[in-house]
Amino acid sequence: MDLFKIAKYPFIEEAKEWVRKEKIDVEEILFDGIYERARNRGVERVMQALYKGIINDAILLNEVDCMMEVLSYPIARMLVVAIESDYLLRRYALAEAKKAYENMKRDSPEIIIEIGKEFGIEFKDGCIHFTDYLKFAPTWDIKWKLVNRELRQGYVRLDKNEIARLLQEAIRKKIYDELSYLFAPQEVKKVFKEEIIAIRNKIALKERKETEKYEDINFEDFPPCIKNLISAIKSGINVPHVGRFTVVTFLNAIGQSTNEILKIFSSIPDFNEEKTLYQIEHITGKISGTIYSTPKCDTIRTWGLCYPDELCKKIWHPLIYYRKKRRK
Ligand code: SF4
Repeated sequence: MDLFKIAKYPFIEEAKEWVRKEKIDVEEILFDGIYERARNRGVERVMQALYKGIINDAILLNEVDCMMEVLSYPIARMLVVAIESDYLLRRYALAEAKKAYENMKRDSPEIIIEIGKEFGIEFKDGCIHFTDYLKFAPTWDIKWKLVNRELRQGYVRLDKNEIARLLQEAIRKKIYDELSYLFAPQEVKKVFKEEIIAIRNKIALKERKETEKYEDINFEDFPPCIKNLISAIKSGINVPHVGRFTVVTFLNAIGQSTNEILKIFSSIPDFNEEKTLYQIEHITGKISGTIYSTPKCDTIRTWGLCYPDELCKKIWHPLIYYRKKRRK
């Protein structure tokens, strides 16, 4: 068993198998002084996920380093579950997935293929079947839409980094799904009592700030394109991807909270809370490094989503419309 590999990818089956073989139980990990380093690193994993959105690689020089790194992963998971915050859970799952993505980009194609197999993804000469592609590709981003990819006999060609990116999504989903159904043992709450309180306070503060910031918004000030799109979404009409994207970027730019944006989308016919939340948080930069901008009027016009009124004659961007209306 390659300890260095499982230290980098502690979510794979091989890592679980290693822990089973070593016969290390939860009590030992939580209380034994030998594992203090793993506990500290477990807390660090969660903190980095919360504050930075990505977990840094640990320095792995020998087998003991690898062992501590592997064990820090279940500790971090137990801690996240004990905190009982869906926000943290999502952020943590993504941070672990991003860490794996960075490693996969540096690793050999063989490792990537191996990890892909964990998710039932079969590779054929650097291509994957379109059904796997659709399951994991971040299609909220236009460049990942299937129509923009080279498709041959049901297979989509991807380069190494793209495959790693696709696997990032598979890993994020796996971690999130697993943790959603777990309960933390009582001992975890005792051992990490202080950390749990500190992290919960931090999350509560973040949520309070968001609510205060977004109280002062009036739908009547929205430009006609956005009003139309929101009305269509609320009536359950299937709005094209670019329309949904425009709404999210606009609402984010004027300061709507993630939850407020999510509520608007809850009426769409194919609503999937987890997927929608993930897309919103990506577009708004909450769990990615990029905050996407609201498209200009010219762009919205080419999509056939512009319904101008008098004020529209004097502006070139929906946010300028909103600001002018607010000033009035
Ligand atoms: S002109 Fe601009 S702001 Fe007005 S409806 Fe069209 S896209 Fe929206």
